[in-house]
Amino acid sequence: MSARILVVDDVPANVKLLEARLSAEYFDVMTASNGTEALALASRAECDIILLDVMMPDMDGFEVCRRLKTDPATHHIPVVMVTALDSPADRNRGLEAGADDFLTKPVSDVVLIARVRSLTRLKMMTDELRMRAITSLEIGMQAPERSAVSDTGKGGRILLVDDRQSSYERLASLLAAEHTVDVEPNPTEALFHAAEGNYDLLIVSLDLNNFDGLRLCSQARSLERTRHVPILAIADPENSTRLLRGLEIGVNDYLLRPIDKTELLARARTQIRRRRYTDHLRDNVQNSIEMAITDALTGLHNRRYMESHLATLAEQASTRGKPLALMILDIDYFKSINDNYGHDAGDDVLREFAVRVRKSIRGIDLACRYGGEEFVIVMPETDLHVAGMVAERLRRSIAGEPFAVHKGTKRIEVTISIGLTTLEQKGEAVADVLKRADTALYRAKHDGRNRVVSHAA
Ligand code: GH3
Ligand code: MG
Ligand code: MG
Repeated sequence: MSARILVVDDVPANVKLLEARLSAEYFDVMTASNGTEALALASRAECDIILLDVMMPDMDGFEVCRRLKTDPATHHIPVVMVTALDSPADRNRGLEAGADDFLTKPVSDVVLIARVRSLTRLKMMTDELRMRAITSLEIGMQAPERSAVSDTGKGGRILLVDDRQSSYERLASLLAAEHTVDVEPNPTEALFHAAEGNYDLLIVSLDLNNFDGLRLCSQARSLERTRHVPILAIADPENSTRLLRGLEIGVNDYLLRPIDKTELLARARTQIRRRRYTDHLRDNVQNSIEMAITDALTGLHNRRYMESHLATLAEQASTRGKPLALMILDIDYFKSINDNYGHDAGDDVLREFAVRVRKSIRGIDLACRYGGEEFVIVMPETDLHVAGMVAERLRRSIAGEPFAVHKGTKRIEVTISIGLTTLEQKGEAVADVLKRADTALYRAKHDGRNRVVSHAA
C-alpha cells in the first residue's frame, strides 16, 4: 500500500529533500510551493498525508492547516507541520490550528518515516470507513462531517496509566480542566480497566516501574474492546527510541516530559476528536449495513439481500452437489384483512407471521420478505421431500392459531399458500428457480389456497 504525501514548502530545496526521502521509502509524493496551491491540490487530489511548512509568504502554514481542518472535504487528512520554530508556543499554535503532529527542521529520517507510516495506517482505516459510509445512500455523510469539524474535542473520558504519584497527580489535574479522568496506577490492571471503561483516550506512561508500557499498548491494540481507542504515550526524553517502536505498534501520539500543559490538552483534544469521528463513521456503516439488508417491518432479510445471497447459495449447492429448496409463501386474501381490520392490523399480521416463520426454520435457512405479503425461504441441503414437510408444518403453524391484532383485542384467522421447488442438480439460473416456485404458488392459489404445491425441477 503506497500512500500519497503532499509536501508543501516555499523553498524548492526543502521540497526536493523531503520528496527524495519519501520516494526512497516508496511513498508517492506530490508537491506544492504555497498555501493556495496546497489547498487546491488537497481538495482535488486524493492525498493521504500533508507535510506542511510553517513559514511561507502570503499564507502561513497555520492558516493553511486551519483551512484544511475546517473544510469537510479535507478535515480528515492528517497534517504534519514541518517547522524550524520549536517553542511550546509555536507548537501550540499549530495544534490549535488542528495539526496532527510536528517535525522539527532539520528533519530526522527515522522520525519522518515512522511518523508518516503511523499516520498512513490511521488514514487508511478512516478512508475505508468513509468509503463504506458514503456508499450507503440511506445516510447522509453531511452529519458526521459537520459535527467532526465543529467538535471541540473536550468532555472526553480518559484513562491515565501511570504509577508515579507525583506524575499522575499533575497530569490528572491538568486534564481535568477539559475531561473526565480516571487514573490507573497498577499497570497489570490497566488493560482490564481500559476494556471495561469505554474510554475516548488512553494515556500511557512508558516509564513504569517493572512494567513495559509498550506491551500494554500492544495488548490494547489487539483486544477487541480497546482496539479503536487512541493511545497517547508519555516518555522521558531518553526513552525516545522506544517511542518510535510505539508508533509502529499503534500508539497514536506521544509527549515528552516535562509535559507542557497546553500541548497536553491540545494533543488529547485532537485524539478525542478523531476517535469520535471514526466512531461516528463506524456506527453509520453498521447501521447502514443492517438497514440495507433488513426489512424494517418484519426484521427478516429484504429482497435485495435475498437476491444477492441466493446466487451464492445456488452456486455452493451446485459445486457441492447438494440439493437446495426454495419456497414462496403468500398470505391468502391479505387485502381483505387490511380492508376489514385496517392497515395496522395487516402490519400486526405480517410481524407475527415473521415470528412464526423464524420458529419453523433452521439457522442456515434464509427467510426474506420478498414483497408486500409475499415471502421467500431458501433451504440449503434440503430436497423436495423434506422441504415439503417443512412447508406443510409452516402452513399449519399459520392456519392453526389465529393472529392477535389491535393489541390483542381481536383474533383473526390467517392462511397462506406455498409454492415449492428445488434447484436443478446441474445448476441453473436463480431466476428460473424463482419462476418455477411462483408457478407452483399460482397453482396453490388457483386450487383453493391454504395449501402447498410442489413443482419438481
Ligand atoms: P391472494 O390470496 O390472491 O394473495 O390475495 P391477496 O389479497 O393476499 O393479494 P393482493 O396481492 O391482491 O393484495 C395484497 C395486499 O397486501 C395489497 C397491499 O395493500 C397489502 N400490503 C402490501 N404491503 C403491506 C404492508 O406492509 N402492510 C399492510 N398492512 N398491507 C400491505
Ligand atoms: Mg396474498
Ligand atoms: Mg400477493
